[in-house]
Amino acid sequence: MCMAPDLVQIRALAKEKEDENWRFRRFVKSECDLDPDGMDRQVFETTRRVWAHIDCTACANCCREVRPTFSEEEVSRLAIRLGMSQQQFIDDYLQPIEDETNPWETRTTPCPFLRDSRCSVYEDRPADCRGYPYLYEPEFAFRTMAMIERTSTCLIVYEVIEELKQLWGFARRRRP
Ligand code: SF4
Ligand code: SF4
Repeated sequence: MCMAPDLVQIRALAKEKEDENWRFRRFVKSECDLDPDGMDRQVFETTRRVWAHIDCTACANCCREVRPTFSEEEVSRLAIRLGMSQQQFIDDYLQPIEDETNPWETRTTPCPFLRDSRCSVYEDRPADCRGYPYLYEPEFAFRTMAMIERTSTCLIVYEVIEELKQLWGFARRRRP
């Protein structure tokens, strides 16, 4: 396992690649000749390979930077775990958002459940946290904007994007 960079380092890395990454987005949407399923398969395989070398427990950048969202059921589960009423849990930690499925998000960053770079509610963390950084979701080509924005938080996304540039022939075509 290698260490993951801190937020300052990963932001600097992503900034260096910003223009190139937006060109890669245009390439994915209009020039890459892979079909959507083939593209997703290669994203999943690349993610597995990259993630095997990145230690999330040494990073936790997402828990410092991103506000996870919660369904009502997840609010209830966390409130029970912490021995609080649902309303007290909401009052202490959450704010409403306009989302029918997940109508709550944490009010502050870093996440209030982060302790010494570890999740203190790990077994009951919301699905939003379990899915991050969402590289295993389908239709990568339609999610490139969020992915490129995520390169400034998550080393896994950063590395996957770099590998895809090579794999899909973008790196050979890019401007000097
Ligand atoms: S609930 Fe846990 S995994 Fe999710 S952001 Fe907070 S600390 Fe991280
Ligand atoms: S998912 Fe990304 S940002 Fe979150 S801990 Fe792992 S490497 Fe860090």
